[in-house]
Amino acid sequence: MVPVRVRQEMLGARQYYDYKERCVFCDMIAQELHTKVRVIAENAVFVAFEPYAPRFPFETWILPKSHDSHFEDLQKSEVVHLSGIVKNVLSRINRVLEDPPFNYIIHNSPLKDPPLPHYHWHVEIIPKLSRIAGFEWGTGFYINPTPPEEAAEFLREAE
Ligand SMILES: [Zn+2]
Ligand SMILES: [Zn+2]
Repeated sequence: MVPVRVRQEMLGARQYYDYKERCVFCDMIAQELHTKVRVIAENAVFVAFEPYAPRFPFETWILPKSHDSHFEDLQKSEVVHLSGIVKNVLSRINRVLEDPPFNYIIHNSPLKDPPLPHYHWHVEIIPKLSRIAGFEWGTGFYINPTPPEEAAEFLREAE
């Protein structure tokens, strides 16, 4: 089964693709690398940034810079770049937020789907800083008191 959250994300990405004929994640990557205000780290294969409208303070996404819908297609030579950027981002989060508990999620295309032009696998890292309360439970909307540009600046400076 495909989890509801992934299904929603894939549906949104599909609609964007039908409309623009481009992958929304590739467009996000291009924009973030252009403006740099929300970028935290990058290497030859991956980029890490705070998404434009994060649900949680210091929510951080890591994506392969080249379009790829399937995590399992990652080449052996790319694994070291993934582990490098995950370590980089987590050590910044640990320094800035003093070793917070966190969740990380790999969002990936459904198993056995063919390569998809509209979906782009990624990692979402969510430090557990705020508590989900009535507003979030009741509406599915999230209140985030920390602008992503500020969070990115803190994390970038934590060298
Ligand atoms: Zn893409
Ligand atoms: Zn996602």
